[in-house]
Amino acid sequence: MQRGGTGETLRQVVPFVLIFGAGLLLPAVSNDYWTLIATRAAIYWVLVSGLNLVVGFAGQLAIGWVALLTLGAYTTSVLVLGNVLPPLPAFAAFAVAALVGAAFGLLIGLPALRLRTFYFAMTTLGFATIVTQIALAWQSVTGGGIGVPGPMLPAPFDTALGFYLLCLALAAFCTWMTANIAHSRFGRSLVAIRDAEVAAESAGISKRGMLGAVFLFSGAVAGIAGGLFATLQSYITPEAFTFDLSVLFFIAILIGGRGSILGPLIATVVLTWLPEFAAPLVVWSTFLYAALLLLIVLAAPGGIAALLDFRNRRPLESNRAILPRPELLPGVLGRGGAPGSIALRGVVLSFGGVRAIDGLDLTIERGQVHGLIGPNGSGKTTTLNVICGFYTPEAGSVTLDGAPLPPGAPQQRAPSGIARTFQTPRLIGEASVLQNVMVGGTIHGRGSFAESLLSLPRHRGDEAMLREQALLALRSVGLEALAEVRADRLQHSELRFMEIARALMLRPRFLLLDEPAAGLSAEEILRLGALIRAISRQGTGVLLVEHHADLIFDICDHVTVLNLGRVLAAGTPAEIRVHKEVVSAYLGA
Ligand code: ADP
Ligand code: MG
Repeated sequence: MQRGGTGETLRQVVPFVLIFGAGLLLPAVSNDYWTLIATRAAIYWVLVSGLNLVVGFAGQLAIGWVALLTLGAYTTSVLVLGNVLPPLPAFAAFAVAALVGAAFGLLIGLPALRLRTFYFAMTTLGFATIVTQIALAWQSVTGGGIGVPGPMLPAPFDTALGFYLLCLALAAFCTWMTANIAHSRFGRSLVAIRDAEVAAESAGISKRGMLGAVFLFSGAVAGIAGGLFATLQSYITPEAFTFDLSVLFFIAILIGGRGSILGPLIATVVLTWLPEFAAPLVVWSTFLYAALLLLIVLAAPGGIAALLDFRNRRPLESNRAILPRPELLPGVLGRGGAPGSIALRGVVLSFGGVRAIDGLDLTIERGQVHGLIGPNGSGKTTTLNVICGFYTPEAGSVTLDGAPLPPGAPQQRAPSGIARTFQTPRLIGEASVLQNVMVGGTIHGRGSFAESLLSLPRHRGDEAMLREQALLALRSVGLEALAEVRADRLQHSELRFMEIARALMLRPRFLLLDEPAAGLSAEEILRLGALIRAISRQGTGVLLVEHHADLIFDICDHVTVLNLGRVLAAGTPAEIRVHKEVVSAYLGA
C-alpha cells in the first residue's frame, strides 16, 4: 500500500488493523454463536473482496456472483468425497476450486467486453440459475436435491475456533491483496475504465486485459470462498445458494461505496450480522437490503466510504491560482530524441451524409506547435479522433514517422508516444488529482498484475516512480497544491491543466490538445501558452485545436484552417492572419 508519507499509510491501515484485531479477540470475549457469525462474515468477505474489484472498481454489474460460490462449494465437496475421481485431500480440493472459479469467473466475465451494464447483469444472473439447475439435475455427482456433505478440514482447522482463524486469515490476506491492487496502476486503470473509458484507452490501458485479470482473480477467491462455505455448512444442497446471497454480495459493495475496500468490508460484516440481530426479520431480509440501499443512495450516495472520507470535506481555498513551472518540463518529458512527424494525407471521414473531414492533409512536426483552427463543426475534434484511432478514415493515410498507424486501435497510440486531452475533460471524479495524473503513465509500469497483488518489488518500484513523476508533472502545470483533492472538486480551468499533466505522464512525442484554453481566464491563457510553447521546445510535437486566435498566433509555428472538413488555408501565423478568406470566413473583421 504505497501512498503518501508514513502518516498517510498509517491513516489507511489503522481501520483494517482495528477490524481484524477485533475479529481475533472475538472468540476470547464471546461465545460460539458469535464466532459462527464472524466465520460466515469472513467467508463472505473472501468472495466480496474479489467481487469488489469487478463491481466497485471496474463498474461491472456482476449480480449473479453466487454462482461461483456454488461452483466452489460443489467442486471441493465432490472432490473430497471422491464420487467422481479418487478422493483428494481437502486443501488440494480447495486449490482445484480456485482454478475452476478462475476459469468460470473469466467465462462469466467475457460478455462484459461486449455487453453494457444491465445486459451483462442479466447474463450473470442467467449463469447463476444454470449452475443451480445443474447442481439439482446432476444427481450422481451433486446428490441433486439431497445434496452432498461438505469437506472436512484436517487439524488444527477441524474445530470451530481453528476454522474461524483460518477464514479470518484468508479474509485478511484477500484484503491485503485487493488493497495492493487498489493502490497500483491496475486499480487505477479499472476505475479509469469505469469512469473515463476513452481517457483510459488513450493512456494505453487495455480493457480486455484488465477485466480479464480481475475476473480471473475474483473467480478464484470466490471458488475458495465456496469451499469454505461448504465446510462451514457441513452439508450443501442447491437451496443453500439463494438469490438473497447474491444480492447480499452485490449490495455490500454498493452500500460500502464504489472504489473503496474499507466500506464494502464494513458493509459485508453488517449485512451478515443484520439478520441475526433482527432474527424475526429474516424473511424480510431482501426487503431490508433494499431499504438499506435506498437509504444509502438517498442519504450518502458515496456509501460508507464517502461518510468516512473526512479529508475531502474540508473547504478548498477559493482564490487559488494555477502557476505552471515550465522549467520543470525536462524532468517530466526526458530527452528530446530524434525528429519525426505525424502526417495525414487525403483523409476522408463521414458520419452518415455529413463529410466531417474531406481530403485533409496535415503534418505535425516534433518540436513545433501546429495550430488547427476553424468554425464549430469544421472537423477539428474529428481530426484528433482519427489520429488517436477512435475513428477509422474511409480514405487516405495516417502515418507516424512514415509508418502507417494501425486504424481503429486507440489503446495502441500511447505506446507510439501520442497523448491527448479532450474538449470535455475526462476525469475520474472520485479519485484524487494525483491518481488521475498517475493514470497517464500506466504503460511505463513494469510489474505484472500478480506482482501487484503480492506487492512485490517491481510493483513498489512502479508506484514510487509513477508517484514521483506525477508530482513533478503536477508541479510543472502548477497544480501540486491540489494533488490529494478529489478531482470532481476542481474548477473547470484546473481540470484542463490536470489533463495536460496526465498527458505529459506518457512522456509523449506528440501531444494533441483539444481546446485547452476554453473556459480559462485571460491570465490563465497566457500561462497556458507559455507552457505549451515550453512543451514543444522539449521536442514534443503539439497539435493545438483552439478558438482563441491570440493564443494561436502567439505560440504556433504553423497554422491550418479548416472549413467544412477541408483545408481553407495553411501557413505561418503571419500568413494566416492576413489571409483574405480566413479573415472573412472565420476571424472576422
Ligand atoms: P469541431 O471540433 O471542429 O467543432 P467536429 O469534428 O466535432 O467539429 O465535428 C465535425 C462534424 O462532424 C460536425 O458536423 C459534427 O456534427 C459531425 N460529427 C462529429 N462527431 C460525430 C459523431 N460521432 N456522429 C455524427 N456526427 C458527428
Ligand atoms: Mg471540437
